[in-house]
Amino acid sequence: MFTRRLIATAAAAGMALTLAACGGGTGTPGSTDGAGGDGIKIGIKFDQPGLGLREGNEYTGFDVEVAKYVAQELGHAEGDIEWIESPSAQRETLIETDQVDLIFATYSITDSRKERVSFAGPYFIAGQGLLVRADDSSITGQDTLGGKKLCSVTGSTPAQKIKDAYPDVELQEFGTYSECLPALLNGTIDAVTTDDTILAGFAAQEQYAGKLKLAGEPFTTENYGIGLKKGDVELCEKVNAAVTKMVDEGAWEAAIEKTLGAADYTPGPGNPPTPAACS
Ligand code: GLU
Repeated sequence: MFTRRLIATAAAAGMALTLAACGGGTGTPGSTDGAGGDGIKIGIKFDQPGLGLREGNEYTGFDVEVAKYVAQELGHAEGDIEWIESPSAQRETLIETDQVDLIFATYSITDSRKERVSFAGPYFIAGQGLLVRADDSSITGQDTLGGKKLCSVTGSTPAQKIKDAYPDVELQEFGTYSECLPALLNGTIDAVTTDDTILAGFAAQEQYAGKLKLAGEPFTTENYGIGLKKGDVELCEKVNAAVTKMVDEGAWEAAIEKTLGAADYTPGPGNPPTPAACS
C-alpha cells in the first residue's frame, strides 16, 4: 500500500514536470488543475476586506478582480491562478525570488521600490487616511496626531510617512493591518493609518458596525501598481494593455462597485488612472 502510493505520487510528480516543461508558462489556456505550465502565481493581501481577502478557498476584493481580469488577458484561466499571501514588507522579496509572477496588493508605486521591482499600472489611486473609534472626537485629521498612538504595517508607505513627517506620534507596527484592529478597539492605540481604501474595507465589516469611523481627508497619494520582475518590459506592457482594456470595457467600474462600492467607498479624483509607460 505504502509502496503503491509512493509510485503513484512519483508518477504524478513526473507528469507535472512534463506538463510544466511543455507549457513553458507562456499562457495557452487549458489546464485548470494548477499542475500544468499555465499556472500563474499572483500575490495579494489575504486580510484586507474589499481589496484582497481570503475566506477558506474564496478570494474577494478589488485587487482580486483586477488580478483575475489581467490573468485572463495573459491566457491564464481563473483556476490556473495560485494566490500567494504578500504582506507589505515581503512584496519586493517575493518578486525577486520568483515566488510570485505578479503582485496586486494595494502596492504603491515608489522610487525606492522601483530599485528592486518594476510596476505596471497604476490601476487605482488611493490616499492615506485615519481610522479611529466611533466615539473619538480628538482625532479629526492629520493635524491632530500629536502625542497619539498610531498603528500601521512594517514596510508600508503610510508607516514611513508617519516616521518622516510626524515625529511626535508613537507608531506601533505590525505585519498586517488586521492585527491593528483589536488594538484600536481595546484602546491600546488611538488610530490605524494606511490607505483610505483599506480602512473603509475594515470599517464596513459587520463586526465593526457602529464602532469605527474614518477621520479627516486623505493626506497622501498612493498610486497602486502591479509589481513584477524588475526590467520585464514585455510583461509590464501586456499587463498595462489588460488594465486599459478593463477600464475601457467598464469592467474596472463594475469591479469597484462590487467590492469597494459595497464598503461605501467612492474612488477619489484621478480614478481610473492611465497606466504609465513601462521601463
Ligand atoms: N499602499 C501602501 C503601500 O504600498 C499601503 C498599503 C499596504 O501596505 O499594502 O505600502
